[in-house]
Amino acid sequence: MAQAIVTEGLTRRFGDHIAVNQLDLTVEQGQVFGFLGPNGAGKTTMVRLLNGVLNANAGRATVLGFDVATQGTEIRKRTGVLTETPNLYEALTARENLLLFGDLYGVPESELPKRADSLLEELGLIERANERVGGYSKGMKQRLAIARALLHQPTLLFLDEPTSGLDPVAARMVTGLIQTLSHQEGRTVFLCTHNLTEAQRLCQRVGVIDQGVLR
Ligand code: ATP
Repeated sequence: MAQAIVTEGLTRRFGDHIAVNQLDLTVEQGQVFGFLGPNGAGKTTMVRLLNGVLNANAGRATVLGFDVATQGTEIRKRTGVLTETPNLYEALTARENLLLFGDLYGVPESELPKRADSLLEELGLIERANERVGGYSKGMKQRLAIARALLHQPTLLFLDEPTSGLDPVAARMVTGLIQTLSHQEGRTVFLCTHNLTEAQRLCQRVGVIDQGVLR
């Protein structure tokens, strides 16, 4: 099976602190890979390194065959990232947010409204799609951020704590979506979590990171 992610000795320091320490990792295409670790372990730093938004101090990595050090733009065209905070435009409606971000991602104008509505439907937001996001609950914002990460149909998805703060029904909707993305659509998912039950249910493989070291 082809490798979606390969890292060799990947290292990132912040001052004297080593956030990611000589990390060797492979993730196969089509797999849901669980990246587990306590707060401050280095998970978010790893996601930033793998998307080429943060430079490594040592080591190397390829994502979908592209070098993170020099081909970040190519990588980001093909990856979707759900960060820990949604960072949506609160004065815009959910639909307007998706249309704006879809445009920035280069989704063709002829497809964008259809794709946005289908994601809003899939994530249970269609009935409130014309409301301003400022009035949304935390769970609704999280679901909208997931829709945004999927708009440009990425082959590799990075999900940083996707169910954190969601009620059980919303969490189940999100985990169901992750299973569909992987099993039916063949996408690779890099799932950062400290929820062991969620990792056990969703992941074919897990890596445990602690203080920047892969255990
Ligand atoms: P959490 O589950 O709490 O989000 P995490 O596993 O994602 O944690 P990181 O955010 O990657 O952890 O942080 C790893 C370490 O690197 C922490 O000690 C953090 O304080 C440090 N760190 C991360 N980003 C920076 C930065 N920009 N400047 C300085 N230190 C940073």
